Amino acid sequence: MRCEVVAVGSELLLGQIADTNSSWIGQELAAVGIDSHFQTKVGDNLTRMVEVITAALHRSDAVITTGGLGPTQDDITRDAIAEVLGVDLAVDDELLATIEGMWTSSGRTMPANNRLQARIPVGASAIPVQPGTAPGIVATFDFHGETKVLYAVPGVPWEMQEMMTGFIIEDLMDRSGDTSIIRSRTLRTWGQSESGLAEILADEIARLDETDSSNGGVTLAFLASGMEGLKVRITAKGANETVVTALLDDEEARVRDIIGPIVFGLDDQNMESVVLDLCASHGLTLATAESLTGGLIAQRLTAISGSSKAFRGGVITYATDVKTALLNAPDGPSVSEEMVEAMARGACATLGADVSVATTGVAGPDSWEGIPPGTVWVATCVNGEVETHLLRYKFDRTRIRNFTTITVLNLLRQRLEKL
Ligand code: ATP
Ligand code: MG
Repeated sequence: MRCEVVAVGSELLLGQIADTNSSWIGQELAAVGIDSHFQTKVGDNLTRMVEVITAALHRSDAVITTGGLGPTQDDITRDAIAEVLGVDLAVDDELLATIEGMWTSSGRTMPANNRLQARIPVGASAIPVQPGTAPGIVATFDFHGETKVLYAVPGVPWEMQEMMTGFIIEDLMDRSGDTSIIRSRTLRTWGQSESGLAEILADEIARLDETDSSNGGVTLAFLASGMEGLKVRITAKGANETVVTALLDDEEARVRDIIGPIVFGLDDQNMESVVLDLCASHGLTLATAESLTGGLIAQRLTAISGSSKAFRGGVITYATDVKTALLNAPDGPSVSEEMVEAMARGACATLGADVSVATTGVAGPDSWEGIPPGTVWVATCVNGEVETHLLRYKFDRTRIRNFTTITVLNLLRQRLEKL
C-alpha cells in the first residue's frame, strides 16, 4: 500500500506556517508500515490542486489531502476533488443536519457559508469522524483501471489528527488486507540530543529491523520536541490487544535498560507533572526562587491542575538587593554558586517548603560583569540539603531560559526518585 500526502494552502508556500501536518501524517504512515514516497505542497488554486492530486494518484494507491475544507471562498479542496473524480458536488442532507446541529446545540445559528461544507463529491462520503465543523471526505473510485482512495482532511492539526487516528489509518490497513491493530507508547526523555539518542539506541533499532515482523512488529521513532525533550515513541503492531501490549511492555523494558536514567515519564506526563506527583507522593511541598527564568518554572508548575497539593509558591528575585531582602541571600556576586545555594535555601525558608529549585545566570545576548551568556547556576534543595550545578549553554536567550527550567526540574526529579 502506497499513500501520499498533499498539503493544501498558499500560506504553506509563503512560509507563513510550517507544514507540520505532512510530517505528522508521514510518521503515522511509517509506524504502520504504509509506504509514503512523496509529499507535495500546493497553493489554494484549483488547476494546480487538480494537477498535483492527479499526479499523486498516478504514483500511489491512496492520497490524503490536508487543508482547504473550511467554509470560505478560498477553501476549494472539495471542488478540486470533485474535478479529479469527474463528478459534481451535491449537498449531503445528513451532513448538513449534523453541521447545523453543531451550531444550534451551542445556541448559535449556522452562517449560510457553512452550508458549503455539506457538499460532497457525488459518490464520495463524509469521514465518519468529525471533530470540528469541517467534515472530511473519503472517495473510493476507479482511476485508469485501478481502485484508488482519496481522503481529504481539514488543515487544523487536531481535527486532522483525530480523523487520521480515528478512521484513516485503520481504513488504509483494511484496504491493504492488514487486520492487525496498532498501539504506541511514548517515553519522555531529557538530557540527550537526537543524534546522541539515535547512536545509543542504534543496536536496538538494528535488532528491530532484523526481527521478522510478518506477524506484527515494533518500531522506534524519535520526536525532538524542544523544551518538552526528546520523545521516543514505541509503536507495536499485532493481531490483538494482548499481543500488542506484550510487545510494547517488552520494548519499553529494553529501551529503559539502555536509556533508563533519562526517561522521566510516559505519554501525557511532562516534567512538571512528574515532579509534582513525586512531591505529593512523598508528602513534600515545593517552592521556587527564580532569577534567570523569571517565573517560567512557577508558570509551568501552576499550569498543571492539582499543583496546589504540592506547590507553595515562588519568588522572582531579579535584582541582587531583592535576592538579599526576600531570600536572605548574600549581596553578590549575583551569578555564583553561593548565590544560587542561598536562593534555594531562602525559598524553602521564606515560603515554608520542604523542597525548592533556584536559578540564576546570564541569559544574554550580552555578557554580564565579564560572565559569558549561557552561564547558569541552578540549585535544588531537598529537606535542607542543597545541590548546585553549573550549566553552560550556547543558545539564544529564550532557549537558555526554557532549557534551564526543565533541567532544574529534572535535577529535582532525580533527587526525589531516590528518596
Ligand atoms: P478551516 O475550517 O479552519 O478553514 P481548513 O480545512 O480550511 O480548515 P485551512 O484553512 O487550510 O484548513 O487551515 C486552517 C489552519 O490549520 C491554518 O490556519 C493553519 O494554522 C493550520 N494548518 C493548515 N494546514 C496546515 C499544515 N499543513 N500543517 C500545519 N498546520 C496547518
Ligand atoms: Mg480554511
